Amino acid sequence: MPSNLAQLANDDELTADMLAQYAYCPRRFHLMYVQGRWADNVYTEQGRNVHRRVDQLDHVLPDPAGPDRQEEAPPDHAGDDPPEIVRSVPLASAELGLTAKLDLVSAADDEAVPVETKRGRAPRNEQRSYEPERVQLMAQGLLLREHGYRCDHGVLYFAGSRTRVNVPFVPELEARTRELIDQARLASKSHTMPPPLDDSPKCPGCSLAGICLPDETRTLTRPEQPMAQPDVRRLFPVRDDALPLYIQEQGAVVDSAVITAINTGMVNAASFQRSRAACILTDTGRKAFIRAYEARLDKLVTHPVFGYRCSWRSIVRLQARMLARWLTGDLPEYEGMTTR
Ligand code: SF4
Repeated sequence: MPSNLAQLANDDELTADMLAQYAYCPRRFHLMYVQGRWADNVYTEQGRNVHRRVDQLDHVLPDPAGPDRQEEAPPDHAGDDPPEIVRSVPLASAELGLTAKLDLVSAADDEAVPVETKRGRAPRNEQRSYEPERVQLMAQGLLLREHGYRCDHGVLYFAGSRTRVNVPFVPELEARTRELIDQARLASKSHTMPPPLDDSPKCPGCSLAGICLPDETRTLTRPEQPMAQPDVRRLFPVRDDALPLYIQEQGAVVDSAVITAINTGMVNAASFQRSRAACILTDTGRKAFIRAYEARLDKLVTHPVFGYRCSWRSIVRLQARMLARWLTGDLPEYEGMTTR
C-alpha cells in the first residue's frame, strides 16, 4: 500500500507519485487519496518489488554550486568528471506544493538527470512511454530545477525489458505537468467521485477495478437503466426523498446451502444432538453445514444486470459496494440481485 495514502487529509502537498496516479485516472486518484482505498494486484506487487532495491539506499544530492566537488577533483584531472549517481533522493518545493523521492539522479556539475524505474517492458508506442510516467518524471525535473540544477531531460528505465527511454522536458510536457498539478490539488479537495474512464484499456489492469466498478457504474448510469425485477422484495427507506431499496433474493445463499446439505446427505439426523430443551448440530454436523455454505458461496451464477459469471461470494461484495455507491450518490439507483 502506498505510504502517502492519507497524506492529503493532513496537508495540501502532492507527491510526484500521486500526480502520476491522477494522470492515469482521476477516479483512481480520488479512491486512493480522498477515500483512502487500496487494493493490490500483480502489477502493483511487481512495481513495489522493482522499487524495493533503490529504496533501500539513502543518499542526498551534492551541492549544485559544486565547490566541494571541485576541491575533491584531482589536481591533474583532465576531461569531464564522471556523473555522480545518487539514489532515493527526497526533494520538496513549497512553490509547487510538490514532493518526491527520486529513484535515482545522475548529476554532473550543475546538471542533473532523474531516472525513474518502472516495472514491465517499454511500451511500443511512439514515445516508448505513457503520459503518467512522463508527467511524474517532469515533476521530478521541476523539483531538481528549483534546487538549482539544470535539467532538460529525464530517463525512464523499464526493468522488464531493461530499456532506457529518454524523455525530453519540452515546454508542452512542462505545461501539461503544471496543469495536472493544479487539477490534482483541486481534485484532492473534492468529495465528488469522478466518473469512470469510458471503456478504457487502463481498467483491466487497474488494481482498484473491483472497488471502482467501472463497467457496473457505466451500466447503471446510462439513460436506459435496467428496471428492477418485479418480484424482488422492497424495503422503503426512512428518507422521503430516497429511492426504494432492493435487497438480495431471500434464501439465495443460506437457504440454498441448507437444502443442498440435506438433499446430498451432508447433514442428516446423525448430525444433530437432541436434549429436552434443544436440538443442535454436533461438531461434525456444523462442519458439514459450513462446507455446504462455502460451496454455495463459490457457486458461479450469471449476474442478471451485468451479464457476467461470478461467485455468490463476489456478488455479495459487489452488491454491498453498489449499495454504498447509491447511498453516497455515485449511482442513481440500487439494483438488487435476483436469480429469477
Ligand atoms: S478501474 Fe478504470 S475508471 Fe476505475 S479507477 Fe481504475 S482506471 Fe479508473
